[in-house]
Amino acid sequence: MEHKASDQIQNLQYFGEFGGINPSISDSSTYTFLSAKTMFDTFEGNTEGCYLYSRHSSPSNLYLGEALAALEGTESANVYASGMGAITAVLMQLCNAGDHLVSSRTIYGGTYAFLKNFIKKFDVDSSFVDITQLEAVEKAITPRTKLIYCEAVSNPLLEIADIQAMAALAKKHGIPLVVDNTFSPLSIAPAQLGADVVIHSLTKFINGSSDCVAGAVCASTDFCLSLKDVNHGAGMLLGSTLDSLRAASILKNMRTLHIRIKKHSENALYLAKNFEKDGLRVVYPGLPSHANFHTMKAQMDPEYGFGGIMTVDVGSLENANALMELMQQRRLGYLAVSLGFYKTLFSAPGTSTSSEIPLHEQQAMGLSDGLIRFSIGLDNNVERTYQMMKNCMQELGILEAREMCI
Ligand SMILES: *Cc1c(COP(=O)(O)O)cnc(C)c1O
Repeated sequence: MEHKASDQIQNLQYFGEFGGINPSISDSSTYTFLSAKTMFDTFEGNTEGCYLYSRHSSPSNLYLGEALAALEGTESANVYASGMGAITAVLMQLCNAGDHLVSSRTIYGGTYAFLKNFIKKFDVDSSFVDITQLEAVEKAITPRTKLIYCEAVSNPLLEIADIQAMAALAKKHGIPLVVDNTFSPLSIAPAQLGADVVIHSLTKFINGSSDCVAGAVCASTDFCLSLKDVNHGAGMLLGSTLDSLRAASILKNMRTLHIRIKKHSENALYLAKNFEKDGLRVVYPGLPSHANFHTMKAQMDPEYGFGGIMTVDVGSLENANALMELMQQRRLGYLAVSLGFYKTLFSAPGTSTSSEIPLHEQQAMGLSDGLIRFSIGLDNNVERTYQMMKNCMQELGILEAREMCI
């Protein structure tokens, strides 16, 4: 793999105006011009390095955008006030009334609701398919189809999209492939595998401190500029602009992303392997039992592992709720949605993050009641974490308590 994202990010250093080792934060909504002519040219998009108004761009947002472009190996990147802000801008930019798109059926609940309910208002309809079945994806493409949408590692079922195959299919039909890579930064580089647009919810692993929401679109310079166009750009006109103070703090947190991802992956793999050995139904892309294990292995960067997310099916919603409450009491983590925090977070997707998906559709895609999604934290002693989690499961009768007598 010639594109080593972490090295490229580390080579990107911006200095503050007094030689500070971090860039100064652009604490302004608007910018002065020495001549009226320059202001006119900036409006027309003809002057590089000039700022007009911070909804369009600001130095702090551009720095963060450059780091994200380096992360994904794309020409350019724009940042947004949330992951949904990034996703909705891209979809609205690429689709007109009467258009159609093909999407994976296992996607983030908010994205699903946007496609299923909201974008309909603009007469854009969506086909939801099993993204791991290439023929099903191709069959859904019609002359009105404007894009293929999927998540590299899907939420919450952890299906792995074969991005190279999907990109080839998109290319064959002359449409872009849009990939949400929120679950697998550094582990998977979708643009290097042929994706045209890569989206992130920065809220999760990339920021990693669960203190804000933010998003990004990594793509060609042309596409990023089109989103910012003052007359036609969905990013510019829908207005989900990230604040400069936040952009600066996310950029600082990105400096440790490579270390965090390795630790999230190491801990998750350890827990997944051991819980599977104990007889639990564990889904984790690093287990050979995972349906898309080989696809994952073929397209990941082994240095960063299989990621920090795993699911465990504990049989019923009652079991899931009791276990999550007990684990929280024992400070093993928090009963909370979201992911990428230093502490383990767990939730039952069926009744939380995927509750936008109707019950019968949840069942059809294999999203069961007793499913717990874990975002594994950065615990220093994962063996201890494993023993403590196992004790919780034994006390609740989710695991047989044989070992307890020893
Ligand atoms: C959280 C999430 C989003 C939405 O991001 P926000 O920052 O909450 O708007 C989109 N896609 C995936 C895969 C997510 O996990």
